Amino acid sequence: MKASPDPRVWRNWARTATATPARWCLPRSEAEISAAVKDAALAGLTVRALGSGHSFTAAAATSGVALDLSGWTGIVAADTRTGLVTVRSGTTLRALGAELAGLGLALANLGDIDVQTVAGALSTGTHGTGARLGGLATQIESLELVLADGSVVTCSASSRPELFGAARIGLGALGVITTVTLRCVPSFTLQADERPVPVEEVLEQFDALAAANDHVEFYWFPYGRQALVKRNNRPASSGAVPGAAGSVPPAMPRWRRFWEFELMENAAFGTLCRLGRARPRLIPALNRFASAALSSRSYTDASHRVFVTPRRVRFTESEYAVPRESLGHVIAELRRAVPRLADPVTRPPTTSGSRPPTAASPPTSRSTSTPGCPTGRTSTGSSPSWPRWQAARTGGRCTRSTPDGSARSTPASTTSAGSAPRSIPKAGSAIPT
Ligand SMILES: Cc1cc2nc3c(=O)[nH]c(=O)nc-3n(C[C@H](O)[C@H](O)[C@H](O)COP(=O)(O)OP(=O)(O)OC[C@H]3O[C@@H](n4cnc5c(N)ncnc54)[C@H](O)[C@@H]3O)c2cc1C
Repeated sequence: MKASPDPRVWRNWARTATATPARWCLPRSEAEISAAVKDAALAGLTVRALGSGHSFTAAAATSGVALDLSGWTGIVAADTRTGLVTVRSGTTLRALGAELAGLGLALANLGDIDVQTVAGALSTGTHGTGARLGGLATQIESLELVLADGSVVTCSASSRPELFGAARIGLGALGVITTVTLRCVPSFTLQADERPVPVEEVLEQFDALAAANDHVEFYWFPYGRQALVKRNNRPASSGAVPGAAGSVPPAMPRWRRFWEFELMENAAFGTLCRLGRARPRLIPALNRFASAALSSRSYTDASHRVFVTPRRVRFTESEYAVPRESLGHVIAELRRAVPRLADPVTRPPTTSGSRPPTAASPPTSRSTSTPGCPTGRTSTGSSPSWPRWQAARTGGRCTRSTPDGSARSTPASTTSAGSAPRSIPKAGSAIPT
């Protein structure tokens, strides 16, 4: 029988980091966030705000107080004229995208997935692609934070600029972000064009591709010869790739989306990964097969649906920002290293051209490429949902783990030991994803 996950344990999506927080809190207001921080200080505990657990590192792990912000979501204010939108920090990028679309707005750029929380994505410098577009942190107008003493401060380029510069990509170290005001743009569509191209050709043309397209990235199967080049363009852009007969490619029908993204990119790829794990010696051949099977597609859709892809095959990855001019050497080195690896690599490394995340983070003025290198085994599964599942059942309260695995819940503002004990439901029942 499969063992149930321990309800006290936090795990990240990639299953590379775990932690057992001394206390769980699910605040539903800024006052509750502030009270949880003050109470933690009185108890001599550190505090970590939790996002969706999608960092590959232990950035959100804590043995102190885990502040689950999944009950602190939604848009607080939106000005459709200026595009300034204030959002609570626990809102996922997906929920934000849907709400913005209803207002005729969108985020100018997004990464590859949208299940992260706004604050989690910002705090780690999450970026998309595009030589002319910055990462998410460049879209911030102002931030509101709860500091270590429980006080609430607002910062922006003109108010507390030093705090603003550091907290935009603060890794949760400078306080708990409660709300973020983002500079949004009118909603827009993107034309996606994806096609296999020999790796050498992509490397030769990468600068030209980055200059001619709004967004460009490629990934290559380490043992194959082909790369898949993905270009996304606003229809009016000079680099837009017209469909057949020069027309704008149509939206992808729902059945085809399911076929392409769920069956081919997740179910079929997951099967290849499982095969590779069971028989590592087959990985190079499986990889060459996947590389040869790459096909072209082009479609048009709302930006927030084109930027992101469902990722159900778990993987780990390290990403490096290198000067654009070094990209060819870096990839050549990687290709030479692949045959010498003790453990063959299944997942294709990705490379994108992007601007630095913020002016405050190095490198400051160079065009960079960001090769993302798989660093561990791939497996299949859904998003980590245990902390959310647990929190959903503990209300706006703090839950203290006890050595025997039972737990006590107390209101976030009064974590006194005298509160009524409340047990955490056993894990293993349906976990929403
Ligand atoms: C499948 C996959 C695809 C990805 N694609 C991309 C990509 O295309 N581009 C890219 O750049 N990255 C990408 N990432 C990385 C991902 O965007 C980041 O790891 C991001 O931090 C995840 O957000 P989260 O909400 O899960 O945060 P978590 O991992 O839960 O937390 C990250 C950090 O943010 C802090 N934090 C969270 N909330 C707050 C708050 N309210 N106040 C202060 N600090 C807070 C945490 O304490 C922690 O230090 C990807 C990751 C995965 C697993």
